[in-house]
Amino acid sequence: MRRNYRKVAASVALLLLLWLLINVVFQDSEPKSLHIGDKVDVYSLMKMEDEVMKLSVQHLDDSDSNFIKSSIKESSYNSLNMMTFSALDKFPRDGVISWNEYLTDFLMKLGVSLDGTKEKTDEAAKALNRTMKEEIMGLKAAWFESVRGDPDRLNIDEFLAFRHPEQSHSFLLKIVEDVANILDTNGDGVLNLGEFTELKLDDVSMDNFALRSLFDKDLKTLFKVVDIDGKGTVNRQELLAYLDMRNPIHARREARRLVQTADSDRNGRVSANEAVNKGPEFLACRWFNPDGFQKSFMCTKFTKRDILFIMDYVASLRKNKRTTLERMEKFISTELFTDVNLHGQRYSAEKAVTDLSHWAGKDSEKDWRKYPFSIASVQTFKPVNIGDSFGPTWATHWFKVIIDIPESWKGETVHLIWNSSTEALLWSEDGKVVQGFSCVDEPGREYYVLAENFAPTDSRRVYFIEMACNGSFGAGANAIGPPDMKKEFKLEICKIAVFNKSAYSLAMDLEILASLAREDPSDGFTAHKALFTGNHMLNLMQAGKTDEAHKVAKEFFKDKQSKSLDFTVVAVGNCHIDSAWLWPVRETIRKCARSFSNAIRLMELYPEFIFVASQAQQFEWIKDYYPSLFTEIKGRVKEGRFVPVGGTWVEMDGNIPSGEAYVRHFLLGQKFFLEEFGKKCSEFWLPDTFGYSAQIPQILQHVGISNFLTQKISWNVVNKFPHHSFVWEGLDGSTVLSHFPPSNSYTDRVKVANVVELVKNYSDKGRASQAIMLYGFGDGGGGATQDMLERRRRLENIPGYPKLKPGVPSEVFDQLAKESKNLCRWVGELYLEMHNGTYTTQATIKKQNRRCEELLRNVELLLAMLVVHESVDEKLLKKWQGIVTVAWKKLLLNQFHDILPGSSIEMVNVDAREAFEEISNNVGKVFQEISERFFGTGRDGNLLLNTLAWKRRNVVKIPRGGNTRHVNVNEQSAQQDDQGTFIVVEAPQMSVVQLLQQPMPEISVKTEKLQNGNFVLSNAFLRAEIDTYGRITSTKLSGSSKDAICQESKLANSICIYDDIPLFWDAWDVMDYHLETRKILNAPNVEGVKMKPARILQNGPLVSAVEWEMSFGNGSKLSQRIILDAESPYLIFETNVDWKESHKILKAEFPLNVLARNATYEIQYGHVERPTHANTSWDWAKYEVVGHRWADMSECGFGVSLLSECKYGWSSDGNKLSLSLLRAPKSPDANADIGAHAFKYALMPHAGTFQSANVIQRAHEFNQPLKILHGAARLGKLAGAESSWIEVDQRAVILDAVKLSDNFKTHRAVVLRFYESFGSHVPLTNVTLHFPVKAVTACNGLEEPLKSGGLKLNSHGASTSFAVDFKPFQIQSFLVELF
Ligand SMILES: [Zn+2]
Repeated sequence: MRRNYRKVAASVALLLLLWLLINVVFQDSEPKSLHIGDKVDVYSLMKMEDEVMKLSVQHLDDSDSNFIKSSIKESSYNSLNMMTFSALDKFPRDGVISWNEYLTDFLMKLGVSLDGTKEKTDEAAKALNRTMKEEIMGLKAAWFESVRGDPDRLNIDEFLAFRHPEQSHSFLLKIVEDVANILDTNGDGVLNLGEFTELKLDDVSMDNFALRSLFDKDLKTLFKVVDIDGKGTVNRQELLAYLDMRNPIHARREARRLVQTADSDRNGRVSANEAVNKGPEFLACRWFNPDGFQKSFMCTKFTKRDILFIMDYVASLRKNKRTTLERMEKFISTELFTDVNLHGQRYSAEKAVTDLSHWAGKDSEKDWRKYPFSIASVQTFKPVNIGDSFGPTWATHWFKVIIDIPESWKGETVHLIWNSSTEALLWSEDGKVVQGFSCVDEPGREYYVLAENFAPTDSRRVYFIEMACNGSFGAGANAIGPPDMKKEFKLEICKIAVFNKSAYSLAMDLEILASLAREDPSDGFTAHKALFTGNHMLNLMQAGKTDEAHKVAKEFFKDKQSKSLDFTVVAVGNCHIDSAWLWPVRETIRKCARSFSNAIRLMELYPEFIFVASQAQQFEWIKDYYPSLFTEIKGRVKEGRFVPVGGTWVEMDGNIPSGEAYVRHFLLGQKFFLEEFGKKCSEFWLPDTFGYSAQIPQILQHVGISNFLTQKISWNVVNKFPHHSFVWEGLDGSTVLSHFPPSNSYTDRVKVANVVELVKNYSDKGRASQAIMLYGFGDGGGGATQDMLERRRRLENIPGYPKLKPGVPSEVFDQLAKESKNLCRWVGELYLEMHNGTYTTQATIKKQNRRCEELLRNVELLLAMLVVHESVDEKLLKKWQGIVTVAWKKLLLNQFHDILPGSSIEMVNVDAREAFEEISNNVGKVFQEISERFFGTGRDGNLLLNTLAWKRRNVVKIPRGGNTRHVNVNEQSAQQDDQGTFIVVEAPQMSVVQLLQQPMPEISVKTEKLQNGNFVLSNAFLRAEIDTYGRITSTKLSGSSKDAICQESKLANSICIYDDIPLFWDAWDVMDYHLETRKILNAPNVEGVKMKPARILQNGPLVSAVEWEMSFGNGSKLSQRIILDAESPYLIFETNVDWKESHKILKAEFPLNVLARNATYEIQYGHVERPTHANTSWDWAKYEVVGHRWADMSECGFGVSLLSECKYGWSSDGNKLSLSLLRAPKSPDANADIGAHAFKYALMPHAGTFQSANVIQRAHEFNQPLKILHGAARLGKLAGAESSWIEVDQRAVILDAVKLSDNFKTHRAVVLRFYESFGSHVPLTNVTLHFPVKAVTACNGLEEPLKSGGLKLNSHGASTSFAVDFKPFQIQSFLVELF
């Protein structure tokens, strides 16, 4: 009953509508709003339908019910069921709608509300009373019939069945059964042509409306259509597929067949005329049906005019979003359907190069620099073929390519396409860098634009191509695996081709439209508009109307003003080039050339393109190796389009470099940028580094930078960092404006997904109105690509999306500065909850780095002393300064964020160790030369150099033999061993003095053996008990009964080994779960451990030592001397390890007798506290942390420090403080840390605070022993000889660097850099300089005088002093001008 009622109503509506359309729109007169051939999109269709409805309603009598009106409206919207559903599916958009939602909407359209109360007019209410009750009952019955599950959760398929009962699956099945029962006369289960055409309409019940309309056709033609598999019979599935309008497979197959039959000119498309000629059969195909709307036409006869209308009609979207979307995506796929899609049309013609020949230098894999262009290009090149392979890994192959562009390509855009499965660099015939080629997965830089508008006068070209046998990320077997050194790389493509700009542009349009439709999280209007637009474009393209497709796209992407979000994303091109990582440093030089030249070429095509690059070192390489490219870059820098950022020498590690090294990164970096480009960088740029020291904000302030960009904290494993734009407050309270690009990446592709992700992630919505998107392939990928720039243009103004504009980072920071009062503040370090193994991996490199940092400090100090007191030949000074500067650059390069942390391949580590060795040798030689120049070559005595600005009394060892034999030693107060003599010496603050032996201290150092087999080492400061396993069972300060060692365990200096198997990043990560695998090695009865118990090695009076040894694990050995000297308040653990483990971490653990909720760790110019507990997730993520020379656990009045000479990984847990000693990762360096290691650490219990107990000073001393110099004859030249050179009267203030000013030649000054080390305000710190001084001016880290930085000087004879105030942890630098 219900179905009949609905059907009659629907029929009335459909017929009425049809009649009206045909009469009103097509026959009566020309329609007002629509002409044949007009382009109609779905919105104007809706408008038109409204017009039709209005007209039709005028023809109705007043007595006609509202129901008829609404039926007309409903049926005219049949094609929009999807949209109706979408509109009804209110928040949360879960893909289902309820009966109430539907009914409310239905009634609202009629102006009444659900409870029947009057909303608009009395008439409406009356109409409801008269007719609606019945209608609602009918609708409700239909609703419940279409429901398969929950009636309040109707999904789209159920909804369609409700709106089109004749399309519901069960109904269609019934029709199929009816047809089969009636027609299958021979009962074989299928219908042959005879049976099929036997159908008489009379046989079909009047009730079977759909079936009647099906057979009201030319049955022979229909049979062919229904017989999908073409077997000459129709089975039930085929019949069902035909009847089901939503079956896309059928529709596509049918369309393909019909296009083949109708395509009379065989151009692959069916034009309107061809369709007209084909006539009714074509129209039987639903491919072109505008859904239900056109279905009404199916029942009638067609005029040519009708057909033309249908062909020009903008096909509205079929009901299935997925098929439409995928249709678009397949049309631009680089893999599927390329025979017919746009990607297949990317090039309209192609041609082989005229000649391709090859030359390779011998052993080029060792270093490409042996064969630069000037040598390679003049060699004899021999012919090679596409498909040939070249190797091995890291080798270089040169190709000469001769090209003849055909005359017929006049006016075309012509590409040279190259793919050698490697990175490669294109050179002009005259030796200029042209452009890099990359080999990334996505379309990147596989082509070079030979001509934008080819002129045949310029048809022959000759180029050289330098192929580097490595991929973008080296040549590892997996992402971070060690490289396969024997890889061969295939030359895949070398040809020229005509670039089809139109096809490319349409492909980019479709890509963006499809992405907008797919990625829009709200599935809102923009997504649907994009889907309709893309679909429309496809139909136009398939109809051969490419120009119109372009227009449709242009209309979509045009600036619609003010409809975008009130949020701007500044898109910044970049290319994060790791200065070494999965490839050696030398390959980075070429990576820079390839990527930077790509950027320069793109700038020629895209005037809006802006590219940023960091790391002065990389620019210097370009300057040295590729001068023509450097000139081009300089030009673009001037234009403001190639923008140097960062201000540093390289993007360094954020944890391990010393404070002074940090300053030098800026000093050398900014100096380079200023000299070469006339401008310093305005932001610190460190997107990829593994954690950020709490001292960075102050260091930045000290070098004049107030902005900082990174994103790495988004890699946190435990806690999500709460901000993207914020004020970062450092250790001393200095602040820096910080921004993390919210897409949490620096290699975006400018895809819709990147924008969506960015908006979704941005955690400071409302606080700030701009953000940065960093796009471009990193490392070997070549930076930005044409695709990315095309995408940005299209995404500039999309309604509902942020404005996406090209720009420079400083724009965003300027805006952030204006909004800074809104921003939140983060205080303290930016600790990365990941990659915490990098404080320990590659132990040798870390040790060399520490030693070189100190050596450079010392050589600069000695040079300053010399220059202050003697006139030094300018040439000699220049030579020394040159060597020191080169050494600094080398050191800074090796502080790069994959070298110093230890996350590089073995080649890089070998190179780094050599580089540090070279620094050590070269600087050591300069040190020696300065010393000789200063003090003579000396058989005339020995000197003592104290590089620290406090008085020291230490035991030193005078090696046997050599120049030191001239030291007068009183054997009574000395101690001998095999290699030399120990004596006590004293040195004033920062001084060079005659080496003089001091009398024996009152209390000497002793070693005793106790009855229980333990040993005791004691001196004037402490008493330590050691068991036979080398463990410290007790340590007490002299005269105190308080033990520093936890007496429950008595196991300090336990050497523990843990399994160390990270989630993925082998060299980088030590995961929290390693803590669950602890095994103490130096304990009784440990399986696999062989102990050589402790024995006395030395027994005073100046030095005492106990020695023990063990072998363990995979054949590893550890031996340790536990040493105490008479003048030392700390116990030294001098350790040698032969390390042979795999995926293990070794630590020394100290359970202490201290209650401390925080442990303190030294960092650059200060120290930070971190929790010893895991209360919060932020606390527990800090299970492995970084520290420099010391760490401390203290309670009131007492504490214990550990001093470290080259280790940086620490952990604290309750009362246990541990130092990480060695790791054994296998990727990317399979031999990481395997072999011999020598290192020292020390245990220092103390009374009071670590500040009052001089822990900071002792840690410096532990790292910088007094130096013995030879020769003394000319010591007198040093003013203030035998006393201090520089004195500082406050222990809290540390004089960290003394150096000649960077521009010493023009500005004769010495730079002094201090920091406050206790975390206290120190007013009026007096600094006394024992040499003649003209003036002292406060300066910044770049050695630029500060405004009103001049200081008041006090002179006393040959000495000068000045007083300054220090704030907690404050860094201050001064220029001391010399006469
Ligand atoms: Zn990196």
